[in-house]
Amino acid sequence: MTDCPRFEGEGMKYIDGEMSAVERAEFERHCAGCASCRRELDSFTRLDALAGRVKMVDPTDAFWERYWRSVYRRVERKTAWVLMLAGALMIAVYALRQLFESFHRVTFETIAVLLFAAGFVLLLVSLIRERCHQYKNDPYKDVKR
Ligand SMILES: [Zn+2]
Repeated sequence: MTDCPRFEGEGMKYIDGEMSAVERAEFERHCAGCASCRRELDSFTRLDALAGRVKMVDPTDAFWERYWRSVYRRVERKTAWVLMLAGALMIAVYALRQLFESFHRVTFETIAVLLFAAGFVLLLVSLIRERCHQYKNDPYKDVKR
């Protein structure tokens, strides 16, 4: 708990770097003569350093490159996608066939199948557009990886 009322409002702003140069200088002058604020600042600085040390780091590109070098991993992932896509397409074909057999009346199933089909087609178009955009803007597209 802080003994000095100034730390509550200004201490956190100081630590987070949200003060102007003038405010910073003024707060530092205050801290020079206030043991309570100095103690608080010190403990927050140590906590900050500790948090920085245990911060999770994202895997590097080199890590993912090594990971995907495994033929098994690549085949596994692609097989999973092919199986999922095949299953989804079979369900879609079945649903569309059912839809056309009962097209004379609009049912809950009809609407659900139409929404799913529209979403699927839109997603497919979106993915193709993304890939095209990515390919056109890839500065390394002529570099063999
Ligand atoms: Zn103080």
